[in-house]
Amino acid sequence: MDRMRILIAASEAAPFAKTGGLGDVVGALPKELAKLGHEVVVFLPRYKSIDLARYRTQRLDWTVTVPIAGRNFGAQLESLRDRKLPLSYYFVHNEPFFGREGIYVDPSTGSDYVDNDQRFSFFSRVVLESLKQLGWKPDVVHVHDWQAGLMPVLLRTVYSADSFFAGIKSVLTIHNLAYQGVFPRERFTDLALPEELFYATGPLEFYEKVNFLKGAIMFSDRITTVSPNYANEIQSSTEMGSGLDGVLRNRSDDLVGILNGVDYTVWSPSRDKVIPYRYHIPNLSGKRSTQVELLNNAGLPVRERTPVIGMITRLVDQKGLDLVIAAGERLFQRDVQMLILGTGEERYHDQLMRFQEQFPDKLKVWLTFDDNLAHWIEAGSDVFLMPSRFEPCGLNQMYSLKYGTVPIVHRVGGLADTVEDYDPETGQGTGFVFSDYTPEAMLSAIDRAIELFARKRPWTKLMKTGMRQDFSWASSAEKYQKLFGNLTRSQ
Ligand code: ADP
Repeated sequence: MDRMRILIAASEAAPFAKTGGLGDVVGALPKELAKLGHEVVVFLPRYKSIDLARYRTQRLDWTVTVPIAGRNFGAQLESLRDRKLPLSYYFVHNEPFFGREGIYVDPSTGSDYVDNDQRFSFFSRVVLESLKQLGWKPDVVHVHDWQAGLMPVLLRTVYSADSFFAGIKSVLTIHNLAYQGVFPRERFTDLALPEELFYATGPLEFYEKVNFLKGAIMFSDRITTVSPNYANEIQSSTEMGSGLDGVLRNRSDDLVGILNGVDYTVWSPSRDKVIPYRYHIPNLSGKRSTQVELLNNAGLPVRERTPVIGMITRLVDQKGLDLVIAAGERLFQRDVQMLILGTGEERYHDQLMRFQEQFPDKLKVWLTFDDNLAHWIEAGSDVFLMPSRFEPCGLNQMYSLKYGTVPIVHRVGGLADTVEDYDPETGQGTGFVFSDYTPEAMLSAIDRAIELFARKRPWTKLMKTGMRQDFSWASSAEKYQKLFGNLTRSQ
C-alpha cells in the first residue's frame, strides 16, 4: 500500500474535545492510519475548553483570512506533532468564533449557538487555505459530520479551478444523520458560496433551508457511515434517513458502513488508568471491588445478589430514554440497582431525579459529563443498558463487552452489528437484544438478564465471551485505508 497523505477535519477529537462518539473516533482513527504508515494531519477548532498549555504546541507565524458574512476573518494556527507517528494536529484559533464556553451549545442558554453555520464554514475554509499556506497537499480529505461538511462542497466549487487542489479526493463520514447542520435560507449568502448551489431541490437546499450535510453528501467522492447496518437503515426510510434517505440512495454505490473501532489502550479493564482495581479474564475480582467502591461513592447499599445496571449516555430521545422512563416504576420494582450518568434534555433530568427520590436505594443519577466516572461505571456495572431508538454505531456497548458488563440493546444500527443475542440452549451470544421498541420488550430483555445473573456459571461464561470480543481499530482502519487507496488510484 502506497503511503498516502490524509487530511482529517472534524469538530471533535479526544482527548482535546469530545461530546460523544465522534470525539472518540477522531481521537483514535488518525493514530491508526499513521501506524499504517500514512502521513496524517488533523484539523480541529481551538475551543476555549482545549487546554493546549499541557502540550508542546507551536504557534505558526502566519494567519489565513477567509470570507464570512461579507467580512474577512483571520485564523491563527497552533500545531502539535505526535512524538512517534507521522501525525500532526492543527488547531484553528479565532477568538470570536471558538473562544467560547461551549463547543456547539451555549451553556448559559442550553441552545445551539445561532452562528454555528458561520463558525464551521469558517473552520472548513480555514483548513483549505491553511493547506495551501503549508504547501501540504493531501491525497484524501476525510471530513466528519456536517461541521466539516462544507469542505467537499468548497473543493468542487470555489476551489475547483485552483490547481493546488486538483485531484484531491474527499470522503465524508456520517456519525449521526440526526445532526445535519440546517440553517435559515437567509443565511446562505453569509457562506460566500456560489448562488447557484441554492435552489429548490439543489445540493444545499432542504425544505427551503440550508443543509450542510446534504451538500457534503452530494459533493464527496465517497461516503461512509459508522456501521454496516446503519448504512442500510439510513437508505431504507424517511424516518431512518432523517429526510436524506433519497439523497443517500442516489449515492448508494459510493456509500459503505465501516464499524467504529475501540481504543483498547483507553477502554479495557486490564489497562484502564482510571478505575481503582484493574482486572482481566483469569481473575475478575477487581470488577467486584470496583463495584463495591462505586456503590459506596454513589451512596447505594452494597448487595450480594443484585445486578447493577449502568447507563452512560446523552439524555436525548435517540438514546431510548422514553423507554426507560415508561418502564421506570416496573423496573425498580425488580431486584436491581441502576447507575445513570448523562446530560441532556431537562425533562429527562427531572424524570430521572424523581425516580431517584422515589427509589433512593436503587438508583443513582449523575447529571454531568464525567469521563472518569464513565470508566468506573463501565467497570463497576454488571449489565449495561442501551435501548437506543436508533444508533449509528454506539461505542458503549463495545466498551461494555470488554469490561465484562453484559449489554442489553435494542436491535438497531450498530448495536445489532456488535451484540449477539444470548441463546440459553447453546450458550451462544454476547448480550441481550430486543426487537420491538417498547418498554415491555426492554423489560423482558432485562428479565432475561436478571434470571441468568442469578446463575453464576453461565453468567460468568457470558461475561468472558464478551471480554474476548475484539473490535479494535486495526481492522476498521484497514477498511478506511483500502477505501482511500482505491479512491486515489481511480483517477
Ligand atoms: P453518541 O456519539 O451518540 O453520544 P456513542 O455511544 O457513539 O454515542 O459515544 C458516546 C461516548 O460519549 C462514549 O465514549 C460515552 O462514554 C461518552 N459519554 C456520553 N455521555 C457521557 C457523560 N455524561 N459522561 C462521560 N462520558 C459520556
